[in-house]
Amino acid sequence: MTYRAPIQDMLLSLHHGAGLQAAVQAGHYGDFDAEITAAVLEEAGRFATDVLAPLNTVGDKNGIRLADGRVTTAPGWPEAYRRWTEAGWNAVSGPEAFGGQGLPLAVNAACTEIWSASNIAFGLCPLLTLSAIEALDAHGSSELKKIYLAKLVSGAWTGTMQLTEPQAGSDVGALRTRAERAGDGTYRISGTKIFITYGDHDMTENIVHFVLARLPDAPAGTKGISLFLIPKFLVNADGSLGARNDIHASGVEHKLGMHASPTCTMTMGDHGGAIGYLIGEENRGMQCMFTMMNQARLGVGLEGVGIADRAYQQALAFAGERRQGRAVGSAGSGADPIIAHPDVKRMLLQMRALTAAARTICYATAVALDIATRATDPKVRARAAARGALLTPIAKAFSTDIGNEVSSLGVQIHGGMGFIEETGAAQHFRDARITPIYEGTNGIQAIDLVTRKLGAQGGEAVFALIEELGGVVTQVERSNDPAFGTTGTKLRDALGALDRASRWLLERLTSAPNDALAGATPYLRLFGSTLGGCMLATEALAARGEGAGASARYVTLARFFAENITVQAGALERTVIDSAEAVNGADAVLLG
Ligand SMILES: Cc1cc2nc3c(=O)[nH]c(=O)nc-3n(C[C@H](O)[C@H](O)[C@H](O)COP(=O)(O)OP(=O)(O)OC[C@H]3O[C@@H](n4cnc5c(N)ncnc54)[C@H](O)[C@@H]3O)c2cc1C
Repeated sequence: MTYRAPIQDMLLSLHHGAGLQAAVQAGHYGDFDAEITAAVLEEAGRFATDVLAPLNTVGDKNGIRLADGRVTTAPGWPEAYRRWTEAGWNAVSGPEAFGGQGLPLAVNAACTEIWSASNIAFGLCPLLTLSAIEALDAHGSSELKKIYLAKLVSGAWTGTMQLTEPQAGSDVGALRTRAERAGDGTYRISGTKIFITYGDHDMTENIVHFVLARLPDAPAGTKGISLFLIPKFLVNADGSLGARNDIHASGVEHKLGMHASPTCTMTMGDHGGAIGYLIGEENRGMQCMFTMMNQARLGVGLEGVGIADRAYQQALAFAGERRQGRAVGSAGSGADPIIAHPDVKRMLLQMRALTAAARTICYATAVALDIATRATDPKVRARAAARGALLTPIAKAFSTDIGNEVSSLGVQIHGGMGFIEETGAAQHFRDARITPIYEGTNGIQAIDLVTRKLGAQGGEAVFALIEELGGVVTQVERSNDPAFGTTGTKLRDALGALDRASRWLLERLTSAPNDALAGATPYLRLFGSTLGGCMLATEALAARGEGAGASARYVTLARFFAENITVQAGALERTVIDSAEAVNGADAVLLG
């Protein structure tokens, strides 16, 4: 079954739930005309349906091949990539000075969802290139930008992000790849990186690697890491391609999913060291890499949203066709489509509501990051930067968990056929599984949320958001609309739970840090469920002005989310607070 971008849902989410419309009205987007968003998304949806979606199964079945140090992608992949760059999709939010269209990150976030939904393994390549563009634009020298940025923005060359080594996964500071000063301003890099996405491929003539390495006199840990740009082919002064650099793919992984995305072992230094160019300052590479990773974390969150929506669309279609049993009160004589059964309706609603909430959390993160760079008032920019930083781990972890839950429900709705590869439901489930792992595992995101984001300035950004969300709940309550059911009460209770859990964690961060770490994952879930519930309520309030059909659809969705998902906030608060002692006493069970 093909994929159709859910434009109406996306626009409601972007403009209202994520606050794009309010930000435009407040002047934070300069002369950007929000009206063009619908046209961009319609066009992106067409490209995804026509070009990317048909290759999704082809990529899964054929995978990639490595021979003589060169990776060949699945049939149709290079041609699709050529069409992608020619249509300008790589350049949507790229800097205008280097050929980009300069559209907001928020618009590109919606496009990223579309690429991920139609073909997640394809979309992952430009997702990483965009992160590379961000890091180079923010931290690169003007000379490096001149040579590489326009090529990356157009997509003529792709980017990779190289942190991981066998002994350095979540603990990036343990990396051993070596960099030596060559004496002419360049560096020679040697070492091995593992799990490098699109480390090699045949879709472009050059690949620009962004590699973390350590200088001989560098301090230990993350304070001694530098970031280097290492092109696959060196670039001559006139911009033409020169010699092959000393970096190549020496292996590829066989994986549970994402078969069409090459995951490479990269070897540098077989012939004296790969020529690398420093980005930013020596030993300050983690700062540059964080620019790249934050962008990529939002992108991976959007992968979760995309795969969830794809799984939902497929399950919805199946549930309308598959007939089993008579529904209670059915007027017909034969079996009814399974969508008539309340338990199947619940699963479908659960899929759609979780997807919608994750979508708006991701889009809101993009809006905050946009305001942080586009607003003219430095105070507005600073507040938005803190909001973007707070939302990023939630966008990444909540949305990718949702991608897994929803694609699992997609298999469930298909019954036995979900377990059989030919329906495609299983592929979504397999492809989704990596998203909570890469770009920093979801456990690491939760720790980041508690220690760095909640921990910053006494939780200022968290409490400001809770207060803002309280305003949404008041609006729901004041609407006096019976269609909202108990939405207002559920959201208010959840905000109380989030507030109490936040204060408890803040206190424990200093008095008993292991208690705070033990509660990080349920706290992130509590945050996402509460935030998502309030955001869907905002969208429902806005949809009430768009006719009876839209009102019924979005109010019911918001109500379902509040009454089925946000309602778990109280239990999650108790999990954060009450289970820390048992978690920290776990050795009695695990090692006893
Ligand atoms: C398909 C694929 C593509 C990838 N693409 C790239 C890429 O392009 N570039 C790149 O650099 N890397 C890439 N990676 C690597 C990926 O980012 C890492 O796998 C990930 O960061 C986790 O590291 P690890 O596998 O070493 O797991 P580990 O760090 O060993 O973690 C194992 C478990 O322990 C937990 N854990 C670890 N440390 C802590 C801690 N301090 N506190 C609490 N829990 C902890 C983790 O959450 C996890 O559950 C890719 C991986 C895969 C599988």
